[in-house]
Amino acid sequence: MKVLVTGGAGYIGSTATSILLDRGYGVTVLDDCSTGHAESVDARATFINGSILDAATVRKALAGVEAVLHFTAKSLVGESVTKPEIYWNTNVNGSRILLEEMRTLGVKRLVFSSTAATYGEPKEIPITENSQTKPTNPYGASKLAVDYMITSEAVAHGLAAISLRYFNVAGAHKSARGWLTEKHDPETHLIPNILRASAEKPLKIFGTDWPTADGTCIRDYIHVVDLIDAHIAALDAAQPGTHEIINLGSGGGYSVKEVIAAAQSSVGHAIPADIAPRRAGDPAVLIADISKAKSILKWEPTRDIQAMVSDTWESFH
Ligand code: UDP
Repeated sequence: MKVLVTGGAGYIGSTATSILLDRGYGVTVLDDCSTGHAESVDARATFINGSILDAATVRKALAGVEAVLHFTAKSLVGESVTKPEIYWNTNVNGSRILLEEMRTLGVKRLVFSSTAATYGEPKEIPITENSQTKPTNPYGASKLAVDYMITSEAVAHGLAAISLRYFNVAGAHKSARGWLTEKHDPETHLIPNILRASAEKPLKIFGTDWPTADGTCIRDYIHVVDLIDAHIAALDAAQPGTHEIINLGSGGGYSVKEVIAAAQSSVGHAIPADIAPRRAGDPAVLIADISKAKSILKWEPTRDIQAMVSDTWESFH
């Protein structure tokens, strides 16, 4: 089967591309490299360096394709507050153009990269797919809008679709061609920031006064390779006329201090860290209920926080 991977030059999309190719899928990548990196695209894929906002380019990328893994998105929460128009354009309008071209060409299978940010500040932990969706920033709102768009497309036009709501994706993938890893600029994510911390530039721990056992925020981290395994399972599990929404995490949580401790044991030295004020918009605890993923996708995460930290560490060296 040939799959279009939108956003295939980014951290998660490039990992998906490499793993799909290893498993015998044909892959076309569509990415404008605005935040991704052309050198991350596996040489075995057909690479179209262009924008999801250009319908003719999307049509070209869909040639011969049976299914789409849609990763293209702007994904910085803070930036989405100051420049929301970019998020509505790339995330919502880009997805609208993709759906329109898929419909025109009869491509009827879609797996979409949604996010735990669609839930906002949780009222209950763990978060299920039936939990309230009340995003607290334009990034989460734009992804939720696309989830609604996909539901209506499936009902009206028979699309087979699954949205996967990611919690905290981490780790790296060692492909035959080298490591695929996080290369964000600016880097906001905890694990890369821990591993890059130095005496001159210590890690900032955003708050130690949260209502958790050690006072730091708790998140549900999932290894990027487990995440892609779930996408490949979702490609098979999607049913015509149905849009399933499925959480992807590990089903457990680690505090910032626990992640630092895991990193210290991987790198063999203390991580220089300072206590900083809370970061705006951070909820105290986010943990996924992943029972739906287990039952519908017949999938289970197998890589723990230690693997996420040590793979990221190795990928940086
Ligand atoms: N965090 C931190 N210092 C950093 C980056 C993140 O203390 O340099 C904390 C952040 O407040 C959150 C957790 O680590 O509680 C995970 O943050 P990240 O940005 O990796 O993911 P998010 O949960 O925001 O999607």
